[in-house]
Amino acid sequence: MSRKREDEPQENLMDRLRALFGFQDPHNKNVLPPKARFSIWYFLIAVLAFSYMQQYFFSGKVETIPYSQFKQYVAQGNLASLSIGPEVISGTLKGASGQKFTTVRVNDPGLVKELDENKINYSGYFESQLVGTILSYIIPIGIFFLIWRFAMKKMGPGMGVMSFSKSKAKIFAETETKVTFADVAGIDEAKEELKEVVEFLQNPEKFQKLGGRIPKGVLLVGLPGTGKTLLAKAVAGEAKVTFFSISGSEFVEMFVGVGAARVRDLFSQAAAQAPCIIFIDELDALGKARGVNVFGGHDEREQTLNQLLVEMDGFETNKGVIIMAATNRPEILDPALLRPGRFDRQVLIDRPDINGREAILKIHSKHVVLDPDVDLRKIAGLTPGFVGADLANLVNESALLAARKNKETVGSTEFDEAIDRVVGGLEKKNRVMNSKEKEIVSFHESGHAIVAESVDHADPVHKVSIIPRGIAALGYTQQRPTEDRYLMTRSELLDRLAVLLGGRVAEELVFNEISTGAQNDLQRATDIVRSMVTEYGMSDRMGLVTYERARQPMFLPGNFSQSNTYSEEKAAQIDEEIAQFIEEAHQRVKKILSERRNILDELAHLLSEKESVQGEELRKMLSKFKLEMGN
Ligand code: ADP
Ligand code: MG
Ligand code: ZN
Repeated sequence: MSRKREDEPQENLMDRLRALFGFQDPHNKNVLPPKARFSIWYFLIAVLAFSYMQQYFFSGKVETIPYSQFKQYVAQGNLASLSIGPEVISGTLKGASGQKFTTVRVNDPGLVKELDENKINYSGYFESQLVGTILSYIIPIGIFFLIWRFAMKKMGPGMGVMSFSKSKAKIFAETETKVTFADVAGIDEAKEELKEVVEFLQNPEKFQKLGGRIPKGVLLVGLPGTGKTLLAKAVAGEAKVTFFSISGSEFVEMFVGVGAARVRDLFSQAAAQAPCIIFIDELDALGKARGVNVFGGHDEREQTLNQLLVEMDGFETNKGVIIMAATNRPEILDPALLRPGRFDRQVLIDRPDINGREAILKIHSKHVVLDPDVDLRKIAGLTPGFVGADLANLVNESALLAARKNKETVGSTEFDEAIDRVVGGLEKKNRVMNSKEKEIVSFHESGHAIVAESVDHADPVHKVSIIPRGIAALGYTQQRPTEDRYLMTRSELLDRLAVLLGGRVAEELVFNEISTGAQNDLQRATDIVRSMVTEYGMSDRMGLVTYERARQPMFLPGNFSQSNTYSEEKAAQIDEEIAQFIEEAHQRVKKILSERRNILDELAHLLSEKESVQGEELRKMLSKFKLEMGN
């Protein structure tokens, strides 16, 4: 106890020092904002540098001695030279050392006479250190200024008053974009549409003569990672024009007025460098429909958006400036942005199909040494739904895995492993599942897999696994589509529904009890059925009418926004119809699985033993069954 009391005052002092000098205080992190700390440190360093410089450059190795000792030197005649200033006397001693000294002048009227007597060489001076004095101030001030500038830069925009008005820091201008259309694959339609823009940028006059209407703004719409940014850069690279880019999300955290100033800045810079491309990434962050947010505090965004609209309207296409923007949520954009003369050209970027995925894999594996056993076509077939960024990531992961195994080439095993990783999150083999859980998951996944192999229209099973991956999925059944699908028929949807229910029904049959593991399956099943009933007109009872679900803007108080386009009765009917669909599917799956109960048991046991089973193995088991059944 007593020790503690002793410590206390010390701690208080330390706290104050910390507060003063900005050390991190673990008890009170808000003593000073981190950025203020930063500048105090730079100030201290500058002060230290200042005093150090003074000593080093302008004092030399000079000894300060008492006046009495100086008088002794005079009496001994030991002085080589002497200069007498108004306040200080400095001189050099005789002898090899040539020691310099100074002393503070004392009222001593007899001094000159004494010096003459001892034949000492002396002179007076009148503040002759002017140059030295100036230097001794200017150099440190210069250094201080440089350090300060450096500190301001590090702190980034918005910290210093100086960075407010003209802020080119965040506008990226690339004069020589290396990206070309050859670096973009799998999104050929979008590429085709943008070729026109490239031609225009290369030769604006030609287009004007022919009277062609050139789009002012091109909006690239697509999921994250589909290559929107890449494509915009490629347009600049192909046309060999400057590429100005800025991200919409950067405006959001800025102070009022800064964003608008930045937009003005951007357009004036671009006008000076035409032909060029202005690219606004994440346009949705900036261009959200105005007045949707009831929290207020979006003045900045609105101001910036308004400024953008003003600039776009005041811009003439014949200057050779094309404005491009990217978004993955076009539906939330302010309609004003999409009006003619603004982003009136919209280019949709889809997920790549199997050919596209193969082409993208080819591009990204160009610089990777592939094993001859790697079949990019096959990998493309295994990765439906992957976008360009996922595929780039996949190649990279595979290369890393091969490197970790000290292999010379990247083989198909690495790709398989990397697919597993990218698909389901990192493998977590060390996560322990107790044996009961393992059994349940084995039956659950077996249920999915057997149903998938037993219905007519489901994709064949590639692999069944109970190795936990990620957080949510306990196991997974990987189906490999034989082709990309754009349209689905009613029976295909029903089969997909059956596969989703397979896991849950297997648990029901075997354990007479159900676990929470099927929640995601049921969610997806319900979504499919709801779409069948309300959007695709696939329910006899509800007929061909579609029942749109009302979109609900976030943060709106009350529920006036939830008005459906149909009556309460219809809503109830829809719900009944959905339940009916699901129940029918439930009975169907129950029948499928009870008939194949032997195989279900066999597969589940194999799974809990080996943790994963290939599709072929499962098909072998099922062919036995089919023989027994006589078909
Ligand atoms: P987005 O802007 O649509 O989110 P990006 O253009 O930033 O996507 O894509 C990220 C990365 O993924 C790119 O740098 C590229 O390496 C890769 N990539 C994405 N789409 C493609 C594609 N179609 N062809 C080749 N590479 C792609
Ligand atoms: Mg992007
Ligand atoms: Zn499941």
